[in-house]
Amino acid sequence: MGENLNLFTSTQHVINDALGKLGYNEEMFELLKEPIRMLTVRIPVRMDDGSIKVFTGYRAQHNDAVGPTKGGVRFHPEVDEEEVKALSMWMSLKCGIVDLPYGGGKGGIICDPRTMSFTELEKLSRGYVRAISQIVGPTKDIPAPDVYTNSQIMAWMMDEYSRLRENDSPGFITGKPLVLGGSQGREKATAQGVTICIEEAAKKKGIDIKGARVVVQGFGNAGSFLAKFMHDAGAKVIAISDAHGALHDPKGLDIDYLLDRRDSFGTVTTLFDNIISNQELLELDCDILVPAAISNQITENNADKIKASIVVEAANGPTTFEATRILSERDILLVPDVLASAGGVTVSYFEWVQNNQGYYWTEEEVNEKLHSKIVDAFNNVYETSMNRRVNMRLAAYMVGARKMAEASRFRGWV
Ligand code: GLU
Repeated sequence: MGENLNLFTSTQHVINDALGKLGYNEEMFELLKEPIRMLTVRIPVRMDDGSIKVFTGYRAQHNDAVGPTKGGVRFHPEVDEEEVKALSMWMSLKCGIVDLPYGGGKGGIICDPRTMSFTELEKLSRGYVRAISQIVGPTKDIPAPDVYTNSQIMAWMMDEYSRLRENDSPGFITGKPLVLGGSQGREKATAQGVTICIEEAAKKKGIDIKGARVVVQGFGNAGSFLAKFMHDAGAKVIAISDAHGALHDPKGLDIDYLLDRRDSFGTVTTLFDNIISNQELLELDCDILVPAAISNQITENNADKIKASIVVEAANGPTTFEATRILSERDILLVPDVLASAGGVTVSYFEWVQNNQGYYWTEEEVNEKLHSKIVDAFNNVYETSMNRRVNMRLAAYMVGARKMAEASRFRGWV
């Protein structure tokens, strides 16, 4: 809880700095420092044992000047209001960085899906949609997957929304299964975006991906596909981890085997004896470090022990703002979350466009469009960082905030 409050207030600080650098006044910060709308809901679910459990959920909409708000829904025991607010602000920044016609939104439910049955999860997903249905919709706010939610959950949510509206509404939510209007390439999109950022960052640092030593923290949707892409590109993935610990082999891990053995929550290390801790993993000698798990992993306590030359944030908020300063002083190239993890929402946008036009693209078309969006975004942020002499996180916030600030001004809000 305390840590999330910290994430939220640090996000506000960087937004303030970014708006200042862009020449906006205090009034703009007043508008953008909090979500414009925040809904808290209570969702009663009849559990398999017959008892009723009431869950708390949230939906935050940060700013809708550019267009409808957009962002995932996470199911996690540690979800809280401050976290959801911060995440919705990061979604606005991501959408600005990759230049999508959206503002940021985010949702969450306090629950532990690892201990729930399929039926309980379905009831919870449908209950959440009923509870937030007034403020969401294909032209209002479009949910998507996030931590511990997946295409099945999106399918239930889409079905519930379509029933409520008595209209088939595929554009209400993204990250759906292909047969329900999902997009080719959506599942792997976050990892694709991270891979493109790694390639661009490696060019800047003169590192050859072939043979580069890569460490990936987290083996969920982003981490596992990323490990696979890096492995296939000829890099040596020397360590991976999940919530229980990390596996390390300086000669490189057998990623295909690990992918085969992971469960649907990304757990795999419990099958092995010689595991190291997540903290040890972060400090390993490597070229590229990818935190792809949870927030607050690289802090002022370990930032000076990081040995990688490139850190690419596939997770949301893995590096604290103090640690960001330490890494950039040490000349480590940090690719911030709002840029590195924008591949997911980019292909979500493609999915929504395809739903709206009713015409579907091939995986090649999706990947090509994704590639050009992320390369442009990376270079835009990198050049801003060089030209304005600011770290990559502040540069990303400047690029990300520009469009929503301008749209808010044109609408006459500020
Ligand atoms: N949850 C993902 C994110 O944090 C994807 C959001 C989306 O696709 O709308 O970027």
